Amino acid sequence: PARTRVAPSPTGDPHVGTAFMALFDLAWARRTGGRFVLRIEDTDQNRLVEGSEQQIYDSLAWLGLSPDEGPVQGGEFGPYRQSERLETYAPYVQQLLDQGNAYHCWCSSERLAQLREEQQASKQSNTGYDRLCVGKTRQERAALPGFSETPVVRMLIPDDAPTSFTDIIRGTVRAPRPDDQVILKTDGFPTYHLAVVVDDHLMGINTVVRGEEWISSTPKHVLLYQWLGLEVPQFAHMPLLRNTDKSKISKRKNPAARLMWFKEQGYLPEAVRNFLQLLGYAGDEENEVKSFEQFVQEFSWEKVNTTGPIFDLKKLDWLNGHYIRAMAADELATRISDFAVAAGQWAAPSPAQLDVLRRAVPIIQERLVLLKDALPQLDYLFTADADIVVDPDALAGLADNAPEVLDAAIDVVSSVALDAASIQAGLRERIVEGMGIKPKFAFAPVRVAISGRKVSPPLFESIEILGRESSLARLKGLRS
Ligand code: ATP
Ligand code: GLU
Repeated sequence: PARTRVAPSPTGDPHVGTAFMALFDLAWARRTGGRFVLRIEDTDQNRLVEGSEQQIYDSLAWLGLSPDEGPVQGGEFGPYRQSERLETYAPYVQQLLDQGNAYHCWCSSERLAQLREEQQASKQSNTGYDRLCVGKTRQERAALPGFSETPVVRMLIPDDAPTSFTDIIRGTVRAPRPDDQVILKTDGFPTYHLAVVVDDHLMGINTVVRGEEWISSTPKHVLLYQWLGLEVPQFAHMPLLRNTDKSKISKRKNPAARLMWFKEQGYLPEAVRNFLQLLGYAGDEENEVKSFEQFVQEFSWEKVNTTGPIFDLKKLDWLNGHYIRAMAADELATRISDFAVAAGQWAAPSPAQLDVLRRAVPIIQERLVLLKDALPQLDYLFTADADIVVDPDALAGLADNAPEVLDAAIDVVSSVALDAASIQAGLRERIVEGMGIKPKFAFAPVRVAISGRKVSPPLFESIEILGRESSLARLKGLRS
């Protein structure tokens, strides 16, 4: 059974890439009867953002990607937050120092910055740390310039360090030769590289799924595993999601890189999950709509795309519309209402309002793409008759015979059975046939009276939902 993990850093709004990784982590764990772990990688204390960790939990839960183990769920391999594991890393650092695989480095940040500048200016190909501290005692090093009191610990990368590794998506992968990576910082926190190796080992992670930007770090991790005598896990480096112009999706450029954006827009979690499933696999065009269970059943690393999948929101819109149409109307009404309340479109609805919404959902369900558009489309059904605002353009566009049409409609709505079919038949008979007005124009005044708009959801159903009294009040309101 696989033990997989997603290991986000709580440094801002959760990235859609985190959900992408979590989806493949969870699927692989389910496929093999394993467990999916969430670990919070908060070793970079300068970049922590308040509330970010909670957002990670909330957004993964929203997508149905909650972990089996993690800071909230607990588990036997905790704590699952790296800042609570500091004493765990110390013996591993000591072991590496004792074995001569690592060394103390007292170089000040000023010296390191200067070194980098010189390397850049002279266009050196070897731009790593120059190993001034290697083989020196504290005292020896203190006698030289650029000394700082608190040392860091660096890996001593051997000349013959392996630079290729096996990836279950990509086969043999080559990466550049690592430099003497810092593994313990002056603040006593490990860097990502040490913490990720120690924690993946201690948490029993046997498949590491992460973004391809970590490929260049993997040789360092393999070395650490070897030096520490630990079993190397499998690696699966997922492609980075890309824009249609092939640039990488990033939070600075794309609102859609923020996981919460999808929720705010009124995408359904099942559609977003389906979308991410599709992005992972190359050209699975026929079976576009697929439940998570089906995805798990057919899961295969071989199918994963290695070139960056294009993040095509049109496809997501299509999927969202599909899931909306496939949903029972009452369920959709609940989702719309929950969305509208959370988004501040609606105060807590009364039972009467909910009832109207339930009856109105079928008239917009066919064309609805985003939950956020539902209430604005239906607002006239929730407005008091006296408060209907008539769009001036719609009013100006009405033909001269509008008053007669409204009179006829008032007549029909007063007496007809109040279901959409009878309303349609009644209005048709009186206005199209009786008055000889083309169907295209016949109902325009009625629509404007009922909804205030030139274009609205289906008219006859709207009259049925509003009821006789309210519909008559609106027709008379426009007539006068
Ligand atoms: P920014 O959006 O501000 O440029 P970033 O996009 O690089 O930042 P990070 O905060 O560095 O985002 O990364 C957060 C997580 O999202 C990382 O685990 C990273 O692997 C993943 N990630 C970032 N960009 C992508 C992408 N285009 N596709 C998939 N995963 C991504
Ligand atoms: N904390 C890293 C990140 O935010 C985790 C990378 C990994 O999965 O190894 O992407």
